[in-house]
Amino acid sequence: MHEFTSELEVLAAKALAYSLERLKDDPPLDGPRSAEDLYAEVGNTITAQGMGGLEALSVFTDVLARACISTDHPRNLAYIPSAPSEHANLFDLVVGASALYGGSWQEGAGAVFAENQALRWVADLAGLPQSAGGVFAQGGTVGNLSSLVVARAQARKIWPETTRWAVACSKEAHSSIASAANVMDVDVLLIEPSESRKLTGVEVAREVDNFHATHSARVFAVVATAGTTNLGIIDDLISVGAAAKERNLWFHVDGAYGLAALCAPSVRAKFNGIENADSFIVDPHKWLFAPFDACALLYRNPELAREVHTQSASYLDALHEGGAWNPSDYAINLTRRTRGLPFWFSLAANGTDAYTVAMEKTLSMAQIAAEKIRQHPRLELYREPELSVVAFTRPGWQKSEYKAWSDKLLEDQIGFIPASSDKGQPILRFAIVNPWTKVSDIDAILATL
Ligand SMILES: *Cc1c(COP(=O)(O)O)cnc(C)c1O
Repeated sequence: MHEFTSELEVLAAKALAYSLERLKDDPPLDGPRSAEDLYAEVGNTITAQGMGGLEALSVFTDVLARACISTDHPRNLAYIPSAPSEHANLFDLVVGASALYGGSWQEGAGAVFAENQALRWVADLAGLPQSAGGVFAQGGTVGNLSSLVVARAQARKIWPETTRWAVACSKEAHSSIASAANVMDVDVLLIEPSESRKLTGVEVAREVDNFHATHSARVFAVVATAGTTNLGIIDDLISVGAAAKERNLWFHVDGAYGLAALCAPSVRAKFNGIENADSFIVDPHKWLFAPFDACALLYRNPELAREVHTQSASYLDALHEGGAWNPSDYAINLTRRTRGLPFWFSLAANGTDAYTVAMEKTLSMAQIAAEKIRQHPRLELYREPELSVVAFTRPGWQKSEYKAWSDKLLEDQIGFIPASSDKGQPILRFAIVNPWTKVSDIDAILATL
């Protein structure tokens, strides 16, 4: 180990060739296998002697990689898949080879500078002030948690007597908000949204005021969702933000999936009010063509986050000299990979106009898919798509029939679309975030229904 031998030269060429092939061509969809099955094929791969790099590489490329569903396959429309650009993926190789430390300015100035420019682009799209800033955190779950911890610290300054706290959000909010509340040991005020299923200021005002009148706990933040995961529903950010501000409450927007579309003029107005957020998140690994894992976490006033998240220790003192910008100060993290760099590189190389074009392409593919479902003799559109999630049903089918169809679709390597449900109703959904998803891909899937 720790020697660049001629054997390693051969291995490097093979690893690069595999990576480039993976980058160039549509990958197979592939699919999961049981641990027993995998063990039967590869056995225990870790031994005292080692199997050698070439052998380990082929265990991965021939067996293990094929037991991983390709999240970037154009007919993988499950959950929220991914579609990293060639530039972003290519640069991830560079990041991986470079042992960059992304926790501090002292050690990673150049990388942090670039990440901050990428964050600035996102902040500008949202209309946050120049003072805004943040960090690329691991994912939306950590991003939401990190911002809510800052929100509670602010509330503690305003209401020092309060001992029990609650975060308010719609019943449609992502599971990570409840997870954050659990970690923070705070309550969740789940608010029934308006009939349109969008949370508005009316419900927030009524429910928060009622909560304060009837509970000793106090709400410290209101979370709006800009694009729910299941159906792509965008809360009314203007009125929710206003209701939060009137009550001196932190306004956080969870846009892990949806806020990516800030760069698409055709839907930009749906996010009006985002400019009033105290913090928000968007995951470039979801719909901004970056590899896993990167959540852009932005604060209107990052100084408040720094007060909360900076870790202090004698061995860290040198990091804070001269007021340096340390990414570790803005989320629950210290050591961090410069995970925003592949996103930065792709933005820098392609230009932001290319993002607008790619984003609009996925949005119009969602509209095309919706129209094809409307025309389909056996399918029913479940809800008009607001963004790029298209939900639909096959009337008459039970849950088991949806599952059987979905299992067969993957088995036949046509597509990956596990059934979801909404209010107890099984549904199918296309989450279209991949500019490579073509009309023919949609047709191929619909032909099986
Ligand atoms: C995906 C998602 C999250 C969680 O993000 P991770 O990166 O998976 O942790 C949070 N909120 C919404 C709305 C999401 O779609």
